[in-house]
Amino acid sequence: MFYECPKCKRRWEYPLAECPYCLVPLEKAEGKAAKVVGAVKVSIPTLLHPNVPYYVLVLEDERGNMWGYKSEKEYKVGDVFAIEAAKDPDAVGIWRVKYDLNEALVKVLELIGGIDIDSGSKVVVLPTMAAASHAYFRDNTSPEFLSAILRLLLDRGAKAENIVVAGQSFDDIPVVAMAQKAGLIAAGARFNVNALDLATAEFVKNGYFEIAKHVAEADLVLNLAIGKMGKAVASENLFRALKKENYLGQKYLSSDAEILAQLEPLLKNMMVLAEAESVQRSNKLTTFMGLVLSGRSSRNVDRVFNEVAKSFKLPETIKDTVLPEVAGRTIKEVQYQAEIY
Ligand SMILES: [Zn+2]
Repeated sequence: MFYECPKCKRRWEYPLAECPYCLVPLEKAEGKAAKVVGAVKVSIPTLLHPNVPYYVLVLEDERGNMWGYKSEKEYKVGDVFAIEAAKDPDAVGIWRVKYDLNEALVKVLELIGGIDIDSGSKVVVLPTMAAASHAYFRDNTSPEFLSAILRLLLDRGAKAENIVVAGQSFDDIPVVAMAQKAGLIAAGARFNVNALDLATAEFVKNGYFEIAKHVAEADLVLNLAIGKMGKAVASENLFRALKKENYLGQKYLSSDAEILAQLEPLLKNMMVLAEAESVQRSNKLTTFMGLVLSGRSSRNVDRVFNEVAKSFKLPETIKDTVLPEVAGRTIKEVQYQAEIY
């Protein structure tokens, strides 16, 4: 995305609040089609780009905007450049966040078919809430990520009164304490959306499961995972839609992987968006990956995230999950040993 000053026609690749020369707000100047105007093959691996060969392309759209792009696939100067959406409904979208999280979210959702909502749609947002800790520890969904999602939903026509940000604690820490410390309550309040502790809400029976009524009856459920190496965060967050006693009962009888295999097909209205800009390593220290992932299968999103980060160990829950189709960025383009560097 490019941003143009309507007065002096200067352009920037990042969303400045206003033109520093004319002090007027910038307008979006997005191109429709891109073609390759420069291409270089790189054969020498580096720490952050270990998979060679890859190609560094210079792309240009019909408005004359130019930008650089790393590609696993070879292109020649003059080729048309286009990113195709996924064909498999269980595919995972990968996109790089450059300067604008909102733009990256729109793109990564397009890769898996986009979201279809209107002013009457009931939307439940399930952020990851795992600890009562400040946002920079990345235990929980970050307030920036939640804000960007809520802005996107409102931009698409959803009404604030129809959006519920919901969560539930499965341990002794109250969910409100986690949401408060993580900055999620303040983020939600800015958009006037509703907050709900699922533990106090109603549940409906579906087979062996007792699923929160809000989740079961929503038109769209957004499972907001945050990447943690060696963990299956999206999958674990899905369990928060169940009644605590029901989940613990199921866990007594079978593994998380088995519960997921039964539960995921029941939640057809769910989409996963995984935040992977700043993420936790296995040692809980954070590192920068600059990505966002999307998908309809929590297990697939967790599997792709751990593959991209080259996690030391795959979590038990998804160790048998095979790598799905990916769209947008390829795994090789964005993969490096993020546990170390
Ligand atoms: Zn200007």
